[in-house]
This record gives sequence, structure tokens and C-alpha cells, in this order.
Amino acid sequence: MSEKFSATLRIGDLNDYIAPSQGCVVSLKGIKPTPHKLQKSEQNAEKSRSAPNPLQTDPVKISLKDCLACSGCITSAETVMLEKQSLDEFLSSIKKGKTVIVSLSPQSRASLAVHFGLSSLQIFKKLTTFLKSLGVKAVFDTSCSRDLALIESCNEFVSRYKQLSDDGSCKSSVPMISSACPGWICYAEKTLGSYILPYISSVKSPQQTMGSIIKQHICQKMCIRPDDVYHVTVMPCYDKKLEAARDDFMFEVKSQGGTHENIGLRITEVDSVLTSGEVLDLIQAKSVDFRTLDESSLDKLLTNVNEEGHLYGVHGSSGGYAETIFQHAAKILFGKEIKGPLDFKIIKNSDFREVCLEVEGKTVLKFALCYGFRNLQNIVRKIKTGKCDYHFIEVMACPSGCLNGGGQIKRKPGQSPRDFIQSLEMAYTDDVLASDPFKNPVIKTLYDEWLDQPGSEKAKKLMHTEYHPVVKSITAALQNW
Ligand code: SF4
Repeated sequence: MSEKFSATLRIGDLNDYIAPSQGCVVSLKGIKPTPHKLQKSEQNAEKSRSAPNPLQTDPVKISLKDCLACSGCITSAETVMLEKQSLDEFLSSIKKGKTVIVSLSPQSRASLAVHFGLSSLQIFKKLTTFLKSLGVKAVFDTSCSRDLALIESCNEFVSRYKQLSDDGSCKSSVPMISSACPGWICYAEKTLGSYILPYISSVKSPQQTMGSIIKQHICQKMCIRPDDVYHVTVMPCYDKKLEAARDDFMFEVKSQGGTHENIGLRITEVDSVLTSGEVLDLIQAKSVDFRTLDESSLDKLLTNVNEEGHLYGVHGSSGGYAETIFQHAAKILFGKEIKGPLDFKIIKNSDFREVCLEVEGKTVLKFALCYGFRNLQNIVRKIKTGKCDYHFIEVMACPSGCLNGGGQIKRKPGQSPRDFIQSLEMAYTDDVLASDPFKNPVIKTLYDEWLDQPGSEKAKKLMHTEYHPVVKSITAALQNW
């Protein structure tokens, strides 16, 4: 496995240190708005924009970290130039001789599959051909890192559940709320404050899990300096750009590859995020006849592909968190083997569904899928008033979940939203074998050689994160507009 990877990654002199580029900017015009109301202070900030301060001389600088991911966002009125997350930056990193690695999400694969009328596997192979022709060194699969995130989430849920049922001492241990959606995290941190944050799972999203694996493990294993690697993910939404820009997803180089030049450097797990639509833009900009491209073999190091060449992974279109954790908890806590797919019962609408496990007439597990801000606000209200009886909630900001993310390729004229989602769901699962994350050989190897075991100290340090209540740096800056 490592031989294959090192062959793939033979990319010139790795000792040639090239400083990360800072100069490129991108517009987030068209960023998917998330429909929640502005806080009062944010409304004031909005008002203050129409009354310019004559003492203000320097332009206010806005970075991704300042985005509130709200519908009244500073990005809606004008084109805001933001650094780093762009096709230009991606292409210039290749030109500069960086080791460019791309991690493709299964939702983006499905989006491209529907657009081109190909299967997910064909898309993955042709995209590998296309990206490598540009100079990308390896193309991986975030359904692989998602399996690791799912295992850590299963472990975290079982610990929380036991904590609650042992002595009832920690009421904020359940419901555990999924953490893979940055739209939801941004909303929770900046609008809901500290009461909701303890409920959110501490496990990093599949995007950041992949970032950590590549920059903190693979680089060390291959003796590559992490600052020489430019890691790009392809994702279904713009909010993933905000996630990648969080300070929590940077780490400091301790010692690396036998050199000391880069010790103390701050490294970003994911350098850039491209949406499915931006990848299509790139294909079109290069005037490539994508359908007729050769199909390359896949980079197996961090990809869910078996010996026969089939893709595999969990089937939930937003990551399968509720389903996987439910099955695991039923087995570990109650000795019940439950085969998927689970029969989620519609509660209010198709974006709010639940599934329960009863043992001896008592409901012992109650899980929900809760997608879209309207449903999400209802559930938050219930938690706040102590009326929420779910043990786990898979929360996603987008109605219909990640397949319907704002960065996906738009549907064809005349196609109904319902037909469109159905076609994406088919492309997402059609040639992908349903699998158990605990049986993924790639993840087993990662635990064996790096993380020890689920929930270990090392896993907690590298695969988990923290959330922070509101930091209104932008509102302070806007007071001077
Ligand atoms: S639900 Fe939407 S905002 Fe959240 S991760 Fe998925 S695509 Fe992105």
C-alpha cells in the first residue's frame, strides 16, 4: 500500500520548501444562504453599514472566519473578496510544485454522475484522470475518512449513553447531535450560544478527519513535509470552506521528516475546498470532453474500493450517522443485531424522521434525522425547554441533506426538485456496496499504526474538536462602517 502511494507521490524535490501562497482571492457571491434571522447585534451592524464613519480610513478586511452563515450576510450585498478558497489558488499550488492531493466527497461524485449521465465509479475514475493530468498527485475518497468519523461517533455515543444511564449525572450528554454539517455548527455557535454546544458530538467531520489523516499521519509516514502538501476537498456546499478555515483545524509542526526548518509552523488540515459546481467549472474551463476521458485506477490508500474494484461505504446521503450509530448502540448496549436500511418513520415531514428501539416494552433508543432550518429550530426549542426525548439527532442544515447542498451542480431546466433529488440518491448508491465502517480495512490499518483504538487519547486529540460560543469579531469591525 505504501509503495503504491509513494509511487503516486513522487513529485520532485520535497526538500524545496515553498511557502504557502497567501495572495489569491475569491468571491463567495452566491454562497448558500442559511435561513435564520439575524441576531440583534448583527442587525445593528447591518444598519451601521449605511452610515459611513468619516474617521474610517482603512478598508475593513473580512475573512472566512467572520462569516456568520446567515441570510443577511455581508456577502449578499456585494462581491466580497476572500482569500485562499479558489480554483486559481488550486491551480497555482500545482504550478508551484506543491504535492496537491484531492479528497472527493461521495455527494459531489453523485452530483457529477447525474450531470454527465455516468456512474459514481466512472466519475471517480475519470476525475482521477482529469485531475492528474493537471498535476494532482493523488485523489482520495472522503467516504473512507467518514468511516473513521463514524466509528469515533459510535464510541462517543455509547460513552455518553452510559454516562446518562449509569447515574443520570450528566444531562447534557444526550441527545448527542451530529457535527458533520458546518452550516449547523456555525448557526449553533453564533446564534444559540453555550447551552446547545455540549450536546454536539466532538468528532470532526469526514472532511477534517481526512485532513488530519493526510497532514498528520500520511505525511509523517511518507516523510513528506505537511507544509509542502496542498490538500483540497471537493464538497457539496460552500459552508465546508468555512469549516476548513477554522483555527481549530490547524496544528503546529512538532518534528517532521528529520528536518527542523518547519517546526512551529501552523499547518492547515484542508487548504482549500472546491464545490461540485466549481469542479464542473474547471472541467469546462479546460474544454475537456469529460465523458470520453480514460478511466484511471483509483488511489487505494485512502479510498473505499475493494479488491474487485467496487466502491463501498455507508448509504445515508448525509453520512449515515443516525443509522450507523443506532445499529452499533443496539448491538453494544442491548445485544440486538439490527440490519439496515432502518425504517425511519416520518414525523412532521420527510426531513424530520425518527427510529426507535424498544426492549421489554420500553423505548431504549430514539434517534431522529432532522434536516433544514425549520425542523432544526423546532428541535433546538425542545432541547432548550427540556422536552427533547431523542438520544441522537442527525442534524443537517440543508433540506434533504447534503445531496441537496448549495454547492452541487444545479438541476437541468424542467426537472422537478423531487426528480432531481431522486436521481442524486440513485447515483449516490447505485454502484456503491453498502458496508460496515468497523470492517473497513483502511480504517483498521489507521487504528493499528496510528490511533490505537476508538476513543483512545490519540484519537481524541486528532479526531475530535471543540466548539466555541459566539465570537462577533465582524460585528465589532462593522461598527466602524
Ligand atoms: S447539510 Fe448542507 S450545509 Fe450541511 S454539510 Fe450538508 S451540504 Fe453542507
